[in-house]
Amino acid sequence: MDQSQIDRILEMNNIVDVIGSYFPLKKSGSNYKALCPFHQEKTPSFHVSEKKQIFKCFGCGKAGNVITFVQDYEKLSFMETIKKLAGRVGITISESPQAKLNRSKMDLIYKIYELAADYFQRNLKDHGSFARNYLKERNISTSIVEEFGIGYALNSQTGLMNYLLKNHINEQILLKSGLFGRGERGIYDIFRERLIFPIHNIAGRVVAFGGRVLQKDQKGGKYINSPTTDIYTKGAELYGLYKTRFEISRQDAAIVCEGYTDFIRLHEKGFTNIVASLGTALTDKQVMLLKRYTNNVYLFYDGDNAGKIAAVRAAGNLIKNSMNAWILEVGEKDDPDSFLVKFGVDALQEKITNSQSLTLFLFNDKIMGMDTRQKLETLIEIANGMNDRISQELFFAGCS
Ligand SMILES: [Zn+2]
Repeated sequence: MDQSQIDRILEMNNIVDVIGSYFPLKKSGSNYKALCPFHQEKTPSFHVSEKKQIFKCFGCGKAGNVITFVQDYEKLSFMETIKKLAGRVGITISESPQAKLNRSKMDLIYKIYELAADYFQRNLKDHGSFARNYLKERNISTSIVEEFGIGYALNSQTGLMNYLLKNHINEQILLKSGLFGRGERGIYDIFRERLIFPIHNIAGRVVAFGGRVLQKDQKGGKYINSPTTDIYTKGAELYGLYKTRFEISRQDAAIVCEGYTDFIRLHEKGFTNIVASLGTALTDKQVMLLKRYTNNVYLFYDGDNAGKIAAVRAAGNLIKNSMNAWILEVGEKDDPDSFLVKFGVDALQEKITNSQSLTLFLFNDKIMGMDTRQKLETLIEIANGMNDRISQELFFAGCS
């Protein structure tokens, strides 16, 4: 990657086309104008000059070229932005032979996930009457199914494998994809007889799957998820963020839930500033990813003991990373999905308004079975995780 490549990317990506692909620009003299995406305003003060290939907002002062615009608007790193803009105009960024080799292996695994996602979606349409009924019973609409690419894995040991082989995917790479296991009788599909939720990275590419059982007595755990591969690190992605990040940025707040179905229900009911943590405890990587878009997080977890403990831990992790966290409390038998179905949108809005800080939540709680000393210890443990004294003092000031 050298300066001449960056120049070429700047040359080929006309700033008017690129910005115009995010929101409409209006011609005004020799420039273009729009409402500024970086601050709230009623009359447009965001100007784009095609001649100079720059933008400037006369309201908030934000200015730059096409690279800085995409970087700031999409909250991407410099390299992510360069790759995106290079890809947009078909430029290949030159790499070392080793990097090239890794990239072609990664591209192949991306390809496998793309094919697999199509395959699962087609299965749901063509052979998934049982799964479709399940979705119908749970009131998950066809449009949501399509929007999030929900699919179905057949009850077959080799369905996906055969499909990939037929699509000229080399058998050697299959085992590196995380979608197959190897047993006495050879390679087999890991996802079988499950509802499939594709997990996308921030660039919108499918990098993993979550599979949910459809029947209670089914073997192998309620959920299974793709393992870490060359394109996916467990605990590094947030479900749905590729779609909801602009809304999170705009509202400067995110709702975090745990499960796919919670996410889907909230999204369907209009709470579009949402992500799901994919069943794992909220990791530092996930927190840092979310922090690109907002510092304000509402945790909406299950109302039972396990859910509350997970919410307390997640809040601790957010606070440790200098973010603001609030916890939404629902009844012991409810989760976000069932709460919304039972009580509706207004009730959830009220829960958000009445959400509690970690300290209040902890000391008001009677379900988790902690006594005051244990509660204090929990808070001290969180404070100890903070790496500077000022954060600790602010945290304890907020406790009083
Ligand atoms: Zn502005």
